[in-house]
Amino acid sequence: MIDRIADIWGTRTPYARGGHWPDRIDQLLADGVIESEVDRWVQSACVLCSNGCGLDIAVKDGAMVGVRGRAADLVNHGRLGPKGLFASWQGVSTKERLTRPLIRENGTLVETDWDTAMDRIVERSGKLLAEKGPLSHAFYTSGQLFLEEYYALAVLGKAGIGTPHMDGNTRLCTATAAASLKESFGSDGQPGTAADVDECDAIFLFGHNVAETQTVLWSRILDRLGGPDRPAVVCVDPRRTEVAQLADVHLALRPGTNLALMHGLIRELFVHGWINEEFIAAHTLKVEDLSAAVEKWTPEAVAETCGVEAEDVRRAAEIFGTSERVLSTVLQGFYQSSQATAASCQVNNLHLLRGMIGRPGCGILQMNGQPTAQNNRECGADGDLPGFRNWENPDHVNELAALWNVDPAVIPHWAPPTHAMQIMRYAEQGSVGFLWISATNPAVSMPELPRIREILAREELFVVVQDLYMTETAQYADVVLPAAGWGEKTGTFTNIDRTVHLSEKAVEPPGEARSDLSIFLDYSRRMDFRNKDGKPLLGWAGPEDAYRAWQECTRGRPCDYTGISYAKLRGGSGIQWPCNDERPDGTERLYADADFPTDPDYCESYGHDLLTGATVGPQAYRAMAPGGRAVFKTASYAPPHEEPDGDYPFRYTTGRTAYHFHTRTKTARSKPLNRAAPDAWVELSAPDATRMGVLEGDIVSVRSRRGEIVVPVRVGDIREGTVFAPFHYGYWDAGGSPDGHPRAANELTMTEWDPVSKQPVFKNAAVQVKRVAAGAGPSPAPTTTASRPAGTGAYGASHGSAGHDGAGRHGSPDSRSAYGNGANTGQDGSAGDGAIPATAIPATGIPTTGIPTTAIPTTAIPATVIPATVGGPDAEVQETFPLPGADGKNGDRS
Ligand code: SF4
Repeated sequence: MIDRIADIWGTRTPYARGGHWPDRIDQLLADGVIESEVDRWVQSACVLCSNGCGLDIAVKDGAMVGVRGRAADLVNHGRLGPKGLFASWQGVSTKERLTRPLIRENGTLVETDWDTAMDRIVERSGKLLAEKGPLSHAFYTSGQLFLEEYYALAVLGKAGIGTPHMDGNTRLCTATAAASLKESFGSDGQPGTAADVDECDAIFLFGHNVAETQTVLWSRILDRLGGPDRPAVVCVDPRRTEVAQLADVHLALRPGTNLALMHGLIRELFVHGWINEEFIAAHTLKVEDLSAAVEKWTPEAVAETCGVEAEDVRRAAEIFGTSERVLSTVLQGFYQSSQATAASCQVNNLHLLRGMIGRPGCGILQMNGQPTAQNNRECGADGDLPGFRNWENPDHVNELAALWNVDPAVIPHWAPPTHAMQIMRYAEQGSVGFLWISATNPAVSMPELPRIREILAREELFVVVQDLYMTETAQYADVVLPAAGWGEKTGTFTNIDRTVHLSEKAVEPPGEARSDLSIFLDYSRRMDFRNKDGKPLLGWAGPEDAYRAWQECTRGRPCDYTGISYAKLRGGSGIQWPCNDERPDGTERLYADADFPTDPDYCESYGHDLLTGATVGPQAYRAMAPGGRAVFKTASYAPPHEEPDGDYPFRYTTGRTAYHFHTRTKTARSKPLNRAAPDAWVELSAPDATRMGVLEGDIVSVRSRRGEIVVPVRVGDIREGTVFAPFHYGYWDAGGSPDGHPRAANELTMTEWDPVSKQPVFKNAAVQVKRVAAGAGPSPAPTTTASRPAGTGAYGASHGSAGHDGAGRHGSPDSRSAYGNGANTGQDGSAGDGAIPATAIPATGIPTTGIPTTAIPTTAIPATVIPATVGGPDAEVQETFPLPGADGKNGDRS
C-alpha cells in the first residue's frame, strides 16, 4: 500500500525509448471495503483533468465505493493520479449534493419541484424571446459535461433560440489551444498523442506544469526520464516546478514575455540552419514573415526582455534544433498570458520549421486543462459551429441547417460567437437578461471577481444555475437545478490526445437530480423548439441517441466519430478520432501525410491577425491559396499592459495545485485531498520575504488595482519579484462571501484577454504586498510540488544533470540569477555542468528503484517547522503490476 497523497506519481516503472510503458493498476476502495465485496465494476474514465485516464468504478450496495485504473487503456496503462483516486467518486458521493430544484422567493432560494422550476425558466425565457429576441439569451457552460450534453446545448442554443452568446469556462483555460491550432493548421485537433512520450528524444514544456496539472502524464514522462535513454527536458516556467527541477534547461522567464522568448528560439533555428527546407517549401506558407518577425531577437535581446540567461536560450534552441524527435506541450503559462495565441503558434512554428509533425515522438499537444474541453469545442458549446465548421463559410452553415432541418438564417453566423467575457459585459449592460450557467462557477473562476459578483447580482438578470452543489455562483441564481454527476449518468468524452471514452452510469443520482442532458432536452421540449417539419428539434430519447446524431454531424469533418460506437468503446481502450471507414481503429497522430485542413472550403477558420485579432476574412484567405499547407503565423512582441510600478511593485500570477481541480467543488469534498491543501495561500520568494520581514505563515494583504486578498504566505521557490496564488479557493467553505477574509485569487486579476483566443490574462498583474499579522504557524500550502517550502526541493542536484548530449552545459550557477540569492538549499545548481550522470539522480529527484512510501524528503523539512499537511491512513492506494502479456482488460465486469 502506498500513500498517493504524498507520493503523487506513485512507483516508477522506467522504460526505454520505443518501449511499452509498463502497466500499473492503481486501485482505491473505501475504508472497510475489500475487493471481493465489490458488486460490480463499471467502465468509465476520470473527468478531473484533460488526461482522461481510463478507469472502472467499484459499486457496492448501489453506491460508488472506489476506482481502479484500466491497464488496457492507451492513455494511462492502469495508473490514476490523486484526484482520480480520491475525488472522482468521493467528490460526488457526498451528503452536500443538491437533491431538489430551488427557486428564489422574496430574495431567498427555496426548494420546489421540477415542474415549478422549469416553468419559471420557460416563462422568463419565452417572455424575453418574445420581447427582445434571441440576443437576450446567453449560456455559459463547462469543461466537464459529456459530449452528448454539449451537443444538445449547442443545438438548442443555435437552432432553437438562435443566439451567438454561448461559451464555456474552457474560454478560461483552453481557448488558446483551439485558436493556435486553427491559425497554424486550419482546424482544431491535437496533432500529437500521449504515446509520443514513449518515442521522443526531447520534451519541451511551455508554461505547462504537467507534474501538477496532468499527474499521470508526468508519471509517463518520469518513467522515460528514469529509463536508459533519458530524453532532454526544457521547461519554460517562472516557478521552480517539479518539471523545472528535472529539466536540462529551465527558462524561468518574466511573466508576460513568452512571445519574446519564442522569437529567440525560432531565430536560433534559422541562424543555425536547424530547419527542414524541403518540408517548409512543400507544406507551409509565409516562412518569410516568420523569419522577418524574429530577426532582432538575439539571445541577448531575449535575455534582457525575459530575464533569463542568453546561454540558456541558445542551449534550449540547440536541443530543439538537433533532436530527432521533440514532443512539445503547452498550457496556461502561455494560454493565460498576454499574446497567448501568438506565443502558442510559435510552438507550432518550431515543429513546422523542422518538419517535425505526424511522426512518432514529434507531437504537439496544445493541452487542455478541463477534462472535456475538447468536446465543448467540437460540439460548439464554446460558440463555434459544431464539427469544427467555419461560421464564415455559408456552406458549413447550410450543412448544419440541413442536418437539423432548420432555416440557415436561424443559426447565428453573422458575426463571431460571443466569448465569455463579452457575455458578462452584455449582462452588465442589460442586453442579456437570461444567463444559464451549467457546471461551472464564474463567481470564483472569472477574472476581477468584484465585478463578476455585481453582474450576477443584477436584479434585471435572470440566472439559472445547474450544478451538483450550492456553489458561490448558485447563490446568485433565480433557479438552481440539481444535476447528476459523473458515475450517475452515461455519456462520452474526449481527452487531450483525441481519445474518446465511454462513461457508463454506475449508480442513481441523489434525490431528484437529473443529468444535464435530460435537463437540456426537457427545456427544449417545454420551449417547443421544432424543426421545419414541425417535429421536436431535440427528439433524442437518451445519450446514445444524442451520440448517434453527433456522429452524423462529424461525418467527413476532422473530428470524424462515425467509426466510434458505444459498443466499440465497451471493454477495451478509448479510441482516438478521427475514426471512420478508412481508419476503423482510430488515428494515433494527425498530419502524418503533412496534409493540413487549410483548404478554404474545409478549414474551421480563415484566421486572424495575431497582434490585433482582426479577422483575415474569406477573400484574403482564399487569395493565400493554402491548399493543404500549414501557415507560419506570428506577431511582433508587445509588453504586458500592466507592469509593476512604484505603487504595485510585484508581478502576480495564478495557477493550480496538484490536489485540487477548478474551484474545488469536488476535490475539497475528498478529505485526503483537502487535508493536503485546505486553504488559500500566496507564494513569495525567500529574498522578497526577507526584505519585507515576512516569515512562513505570516498573513499578508495582496492588493491590485481591482481588489485584495488576505492570506498566509508560503516562502517558496519562485522567481524574485513574483507572487503566485492558487486559483481554486472561493468562499463556499469559508463563510460564503469574501467579507472580512478575501482569499480568491481572482479578486486581483484583470479584465483583459488575448485578441484572438479571447482567453483572459490570469498570469500577469501588478500587485503590492503588505504584512498584516504574524502567522499562527506554517501556511496551509502543500509541502510537495512547486508549492513546497523554499529550498526543500532537489533542484541543485538534478538541475544540470547529464543533460541532452552529455555535455550538461546547463545547470551552471548562472541559473541562480532568476531566483535571488540562493539562500535556500538545493537552489544553486552547483552540481551542474554535467557533473552528475543521469543514473546518479538521488532519491529526492527521480526514484528509479523501490517503492517510496512518501515523496516528501522528510529530512529536508523539519517537522517542527512545516507539519505534514498530506497523507493519512485513508489515503493508501494499491498498486499492482500485471505480468507482461496479460490482456489488461481489467474491469468490464458489469
Ligand atoms: S491525471 Fe487527470 S484524468 Fe488521470 S487520474 Fe489524474 S486527474 Fe484524473
